[in-house]
Amino acid sequence: MAAVELKSIVKRYGAATALAGIDLEARDGELTVIVGPSGCGKSTALKLIAGLEDPDAGEILIGGAPVGHLGPARRNIAMVFQAYALYPHMTVFDNMAFPLRMARQERAAIAARVREVAAILRLEALLERKPAALSGGQQQRVAMGRAMVRDPAVYLFDEPLSNLDAQLRAEMREEIVALQRRLGATMLFVTHDQVEAMTLADRIVMLNAGAVEQCGGPQELYDRPDNRFVAGFLGAPRMNFIDAELLEAQSGALRLALPGGQVASLPVALGGPRPAGQPIVVGIRPEHLRLEADAPGIRLPARVLRVEHLGAQRLAQLDSAAGPLQLLSASELDLAENETLEVVLPAERCHLFDAEGRALRD
Ligand code: ADP
Repeated sequence: MAAVELKSIVKRYGAATALAGIDLEARDGELTVIVGPSGCGKSTALKLIAGLEDPDAGEILIGGAPVGHLGPARRNIAMVFQAYALYPHMTVFDNMAFPLRMARQERAAIAARVREVAAILRLEALLERKPAALSGGQQQRVAMGRAMVRDPAVYLFDEPLSNLDAQLRAEMREEIVALQRRLGATMLFVTHDQVEAMTLADRIVMLNAGAVEQCGGPQELYDRPDNRFVAGFLGAPRMNFIDAELLEAQSGALRLALPGGQVASLPVALGGPRPAGQPIVVGIRPEHLRLEADAPGIRLPARVLRVEHLGAQRLAQLDSAAGPLQLLSASELDLAENETLEVVLPAERCHLFDAEGRALRD
């Protein structure tokens, strides 16, 4: 297996910049997920790694060695796409054997390898079928099998689960993680779906408009987003944001003017003095709002507009004194529409961002 590194990679298509000088690393033996909204450059990054396109600047290393001079076939990489691209007239066996036949391997060796991989993917009973006689999940496994037979150094997945229904997607996510653990493979997985990223990744690389916003473990990005973009992208329902203004920041405490005229104090240090009047965005996740709390925080009168029952939880739309808020609570909590209450934003759960969206921390 091998690590993949992108160093200062720039890729332009005519006047449009798809990647604006990104650095990223997929560590050896880890599952790295590149996530971000449509058009942020995810697929471009994969195509550059695979050698299907060339960067305008920067360097790509696989296993520590630059690969810029190597064509796709010599990079020892396998790619799995959203469209499975199986050959419809070939059996499962032949689809999986195809890359080995192209590499002119021995018949007996090919058969042995296909059966070995088919066993790992639970495809043994399906080897004589044609793709049309397979379910979506089975087709996806064949596409993975075709990638696995060559025992590549790196696997690249480009939104491979997008065509599957929700349940199958969840199952395939588990299968991919199990497979990755079993093979100890280096995998790079591209998706626009934050749930997929959170559930699959050892490490997440979050892209936005051709630039890396943040890299790290899923929980790390969730708990300590570097900026408002990452904070808003990860998590559903998404983080609440309140546009506030700084009144005063002093040793370990700050006072904020909230929309609607409320003033709130938070026992939070911002690391260095900041001028009053500066815009500050307060972010809080819907699951972190409380209805009663002794802990310090922002207290806001609010009215319940609507309650959605999600099974184990309830999602309430609140109209608070500082604007709309979403509250996610345990389903035992009895919330009635039109009820008025006090909602608490515990200080230790509040994320603060400056006008440019950068996280403000000590
Ligand atoms: P993502 O995979 O994140 O949806 P892409 O990597 O496909 O994004 O695309 C990144 C940007 O580059 C987009 O603005 C897209 O329109 C542009 N782009 C991608 N491929 C081409 C191409 N072959 N020609 C022109 N523009 C392209």
